[in-house]
Amino acid sequence: MAAPKMFDLVDNVAIVTGGNGGIGRGIALGLAEAGASIAILARNEEKSCATLKEIEAHGVKAIALKLDVTRRDDLRPAFEEVERKLGPVTILVNNAGVAVSKSVLKYNADDWDRVIETNLNSVFFLSQIAAQSMAQRSGGKIINIASEYSRLGSPSVASYSASKGGLVQLTKSIAIELARKNIQVNAIVPGWITTEMTAPAQSGPFHDEIIMRTPAGRFGEPEELAGAAIFLASHASDFVTGSVVYVDGGYAIR
Ligand code: NDP
Repeated sequence: MAAPKMFDLVDNVAIVTGGNGGIGRGIALGLAEAGASIAILARNEEKSCATLKEIEAHGVKAIALKLDVTRRDDLRPAFEEVERKLGPVTILVNNAGVAVSKSVLKYNADDWDRVIETNLNSVFFLSQIAAQSMAQRSGGKIINIASEYSRLGSPSVASYSASKGGLVQLTKSIAIELARKNIQVNAIVPGWITTEMTAPAQSGPFHDEIIMRTPAGRFGEPEELAGAAIFLASHASDFVTGSVVYVDGGYAIR
């Protein structure tokens, strides 16, 4: 069944940070299926190469650039390379993320800095670069991948919760500022999704606790994030900005 035209992403160029695995891969494949050209920005070239082939199977143009999003000086050259190779970027998905699970009593400065730099600081700087380009044209879409810990507290994830809480506030603030430039900025909160990041929680007592707490009674799969991402990347969401979309099997409401 053909998707309604308002969800069509043909003639769009999307950057997906961390698009070579997990949720980022699920989103990149979804945006490609809707017709967008895709640039994957991530560190592991082998994983990027494998995902690139899957994306190309959808008949769209795609590239993968090796990028560590914490290296601020590398962000603009990478962004400009995407625009040179694929054309003006119309969609930015800030998905790259890391978590450190450690007691607050044992955190060191590197644990703190690495998480904040990856999950929050890089999002600001890459969004700024993207917005400068989008504002010169007809607008664009920025989609930030937040977390249930944007809102909830939990032991052992101080830097992760702080980064993801900040990410939602960043989303709202830049959404207001960029609304008149026709740039919509929104966040997606995934529930518990089966990826490398959640591998430690995919078995044992914590797993059972998550299943009990999730009304849908299961983990989600990375490709289940694609629908919300296509919506937020397409004209269907042109009057949606600064919002947080939960794709979590109901986890947030219990
Ligand atoms: P994965 O660990 O499976 O994937 C993380 C991705 O981020 C990888 O593709 C990795 O690529 C990339 N990445 C990490 N650090 C960097 C960096 N410095 N520069 C560039 N890319 C980087 O995790 P998920 O897919 O689970 O997570 C994706 C996003 O979703 C994260 O922001 C996470 O916080 C969020 N999230 C995940 C949930 C879940 O249940 N899985 C729940 C809520 C939120 P590479 O190593 O090649 O650089």
